[in-house]
Amino acid sequence: MDVEDWYHTYFPEDNVDRSYSLMDGLDVALDVMRKRGIKGSFFVVGEIAASLSDTLKRMDSEGHDIACHNNEHIRPLSMDKEQFRSQLLKAKQEVERILGHAVLGYRAPSFAIDDERLSIVEDLGFKWDSSKLQPQKSTKYGYLALPGFTEVSPCIYSNKEGFMEFEVSTQKIGSMNMLLGGGYFRMLPWPFMKWMTKRYLRTGNPYIMYIHPIDLSHRRMPKVKVGGINKYLRTHIGRRHMLQRFNKVLDLLEKNGYSFVTIEQLRSEING
Ligand SMILES: [Zn+2]
Repeated sequence: MDVEDWYHTYFPEDNVDRSYSLMDGLDVALDVMRKRGIKGSFFVVGEIAASLSDTLKRMDSEGHDIACHNNEHIRPLSMDKEQFRSQLLKAKQEVERILGHAVLGYRAPSFAIDDERLSIVEDLGFKWDSSKLQPQKSTKYGYLALPGFTEVSPCIYSNKEGFMEFEVSTQKIGSMNMLLGGGYFRMLPWPFMKWMTKRYLRTGNPYIMYIHPIDLSHRRMPKVKVGGINKYLRTHIGRRHMLQRFNKVLDLLEKNGYSFVTIEQLRSEING
């Protein structure tokens, strides 16, 4: 889960009222996972980490990964390299101050990262990243070619220093690599999403689904004056059914023989 509020997900650069929060969606996810005995990887936006400090400390002690997701949820590709480095360092230090230990994982907002910026992530002491997607048609996303990395297991890559990349799951449909998470997971019709997910699971490859608190929150999405009808629909469609859908996909994974690990668990198992 990318631990960010509604304004980070859909309005990161707009002047909207941030006093209202949909962060209860994090508690909904944790409740589902607790009942099923599942641990996950949570990528936290630095500027809201202090407001979640008790929750993050508890999650950390329960075995979830607490990782970084930039300081203000600005796309890395819209920052120059020095801005990217300094805001990421700030976010990392903030989360480390709260947890009292090193933060090892990172994911770029909107997966909008390139290989140069990924090397900054490694320089700052992170041990792994999960921002790689198969190529996307939308220019919103970035692309990691991963020079110097080898694929050590399907969808998992390592360089010679042991820094690892965990690819977020997509399913190829025609010429498109469809994302199996995020807003797509909420908005696409369930029969289609179920068919795509089952098709992916038949490969036996590791499956990384990602969601946001906004997808699972029980609260109403605020009415926002920016963004137009397109954004209105993207922030509203499917929210009522998402909890049920989240459980359905976890059932699908179990039925197909998948077990659940955090990315950090997987990294340390592979690295020995
Ligand atoms: Zn995000």
